[in-house]
Amino acid sequence: MDIDETVLDNARYQVQMLRDGTRYDSESWDRWVALRGAAPVPGVVDFIGTGQALGFQFAFVTNRSCRTRPGSSDACPQHADTMANLESVGIDTASTTLMLRADRPPERCRPLLTEAEQAEGRWSSDKTSRRACAALDHDIVMLFGDQLGDFTEVENVAPGASNRARAADHRQDWGTRWFMLPNPTYGAWQPRTSAEKRELLNGIE
Ligand SMILES: [Mg+2]
Repeated sequence: MDIDETVLDNARYQVQMLRDGTRYDSESWDRWVALRGAAPVPGVVDFIGTGQALGFQFAFVTNRSCRTRPGSSDACPQHADTMANLESVGIDTASTTLMLRADRPPERCRPLLTEAEQAEGRWSSDKTSRRACAALDHDIVMLFGDQLGDFTEVENVAPGASNRARAADHRQDWGTRWFMLPNPTYGAWQPRTSAEKRELLNGIE
């Protein structure tokens, strides 16, 4: 499962930007992550609890990024923040795996890394190798997300012909193994909207 707008609902952060008249930036986002205050997406706590009771395990693959904070030597305080937020909404994280962007891959998954990831020694924003890492010792039965990259490798984050074709290649997966949650507040669809709509959306961001 992806996390943001799939498991955790960051509407309060969005509303704060609206009130402050600001746009997304990595500093304000990290302050929000540190608050550990995101709400659960409706239904997700019951869904995960029911799945766990049936013996399924959950892996969270998120592009929340590891970054140090002033005055702390922790290379990835976002890991503990995200786990604490998941627990605070009622998710039992004892048997879960959490893989963040820019986190260090476990040794056993190193052969799965892309060349760029091998060079950096960290997960990139492309989730393909992290899914492969989770699949090393698990059968992946379902994927959940709000962006195409939560399901498959995408050549370009903006929607376009290549991504439409890729989504169409997986027609049999949508709604059976792959579950896309709508995200009306942000996503790869934004740059593809008309100039007029974009102007309007920027006005209400
Ligand atoms: Mg998301």
